[in-house]
Formats: sequence, C-alpha cells, structure tokens
Amino acid sequence: MSEKRRGSSNSTRLVLDGAELRHLTSGAIWSEGPVWLAARGSLRWSDIPGNRILEYNLVSGVTSVYATDVEFANGRTLDHSGAVIQCSHGRRAIERDLNGRVTTLVDSWNGHRLNSPNDVIVANDGAIWFTDPPYGIVQAHEGRLGEREYGANFVFRFDPIGGVIEPVATDLEEPNGLAFSPGERVLYVSDTSVALRSDGTGNHHIRAYDVGPGFSLSNSRVFVVITPGVSDGLRVDRLGNIWTSSADAVQVFSPDGVLIDRIPVPEVVGNICFGGEHGTTLFIAATTSIYSIETSVTDATFARVKS
Ligand code: MG
Repeated sequence: MSEKRRGSSNSTRLVLDGAELRHLTSGAIWSEGPVWLAARGSLRWSDIPGNRILEYNLVSGVTSVYATDVEFANGRTLDHSGAVIQCSHGRRAIERDLNGRVTTLVDSWNGHRLNSPNDVIVANDGAIWFTDPPYGIVQAHEGRLGEREYGANFVFRFDPIGGVIEPVATDLEEPNGLAFSPGERVLYVSDTSVALRSDGTGNHHIRAYDVGPGFSLSNSRVFVVITPGVSDGLRVDRLGNIWTSSADAVQVFSPDGVLIDRIPVPEVVGNICFGGEHGTTLFIAATTSIYSIETSVTDATFARVKS
C-alpha cells in the first residue's frame, strides 16, 4: 500500500487524513456482494466460485462460513425490515435470507427465467431493483450453464408487495452494479460487457439515468468510463459521490463525473459497501480478500438501513 493515494482537493475529505487501507481477511476465490450487518457487527459477502457466503466480525476479527452450497449467491443488500435480499446465479433469482431461511422472491419475467441476477438495491418505496447479466449462466465456476431465455440483459424493478416485475433499463449490454443518488433522482448502473470478451471490445462504463414519475428512466448517458478494469460494484455516498470498483483501486467520482479520489488496492476490486459502527467504514471486496478504510461519509441510504 505504498502507492500514493489521490486525495480530494476540495474542502470535504472523503477518506480521513492518515487513514490507511487495512487488510482484514483472505481466503475467498472471488469476493462479491458485501453488505454490513449492524446487528451482527459483521460484514457478509459472497465467495462466488467457492459457492459459499462468508462473514467477518469486526470486533473479534474472526472470519466464519455463514453458509455453503448457496447456488452461487452474488450481490446483496438489506430491505426495510433488515432482511438480506440477495442475488442467486444458480437459482436465477432474487431471494430473501431471513435469519438463515432463504426464500425466492422472483425468478422469471414474462414467462422466461431470469439470466443470473448480479446486484441488487432496495428503493425508498421498498421496490427491489436489480441487474440481470449472463455471467452465472455462461461460466461454470460462477453458476449453472443455461440459456438467456428472454434474449437480453435488463435492469428490473420488482415490487414485492404486488409481485410485479418490469424492465426499467434495456439499453445496457451487460448491466452489473447499481445505486441511486440521494433522493433517488438519478440511477447509476455499470455496464461490464468487456469482461468476458477476449478481443478487448465491450463496455466498461457507468451509465446514469434520470428517474421520473412512475419509475420511468430517461436521459440515458455514459456517466464515466472506468479504467483499468470495470465497475463490478458501486455505491453512492450521502453527498452524491459515486464510489466504484476498478482493477487496481476504488475510484470516487463527483456527481458531475470528475475523479476526485482514488484508493489503491493490491487486488482486483469486485465490490464495496459502507458500514461499521458509524457507517463510515468502506469495506472493499477484492478477489481473495476484504479490506477497509475509514471515510467521512456514509452510504446515501445509511439512515434507512442502519438498523
Ligand atoms: Mg457485480
């Protein structure tokens, strides 16, 4: 961690002065889907190729196996009740884990099975928004091989009360991470279609959409291009800054798309989340390991999910 960090030059120090990247634990094959569980004092995340879910307790420093044979679970978040909502590559579903009891919420649209839901967020109204790229049906080590039954890779909104699922963004090649701005006026979704191609073509950017009445998205535009690597996972802080994974660092962009901070990480970064006692610890899921660094901000949804 000797590489110098690019710090923000404005008055708000996003990463605390003197804060250093901490290595917390290792042992996964590919780490994804981190979420902070305040009641357990633990970070939970997926080791997708290991087909298991791990937890790291911040007080004891102990890493434990939460569950095995998990059908290649990927991204996760919390709903308003504090239950874990997670993506299942193997079941091609969005599921709820309530104290270890896992139930499927949705696994099809319009009579077709989903591809392999990758990442998920819960909106202020309780609806579940998720991305559905093919990574869990075209790679045997990340799921179960299968067909893209609806023939595309959409972003969906699922209302768990009414049981209604509808596509909300259909112009991405392979949608991956996603997050709302504070107030849910903008939706950010990464497109990582470069990931599985050997010829270097494909997208490695984050798109932004204006969120309008009736959850309609408009003004689709490329927000930033990520290099090196891709934005496998992203978060938005309470100030509206966008924190994203890349090949060699966590990159932080202002709402107008300017790179304002960069946190070098010695392994390829998969995904990130805020958590810890005050919600200001950034946890970084990076290949085999979990790292953390102390920041001055919380996730945009902190007040809602801190329980
Ligand atoms: Mg992802």
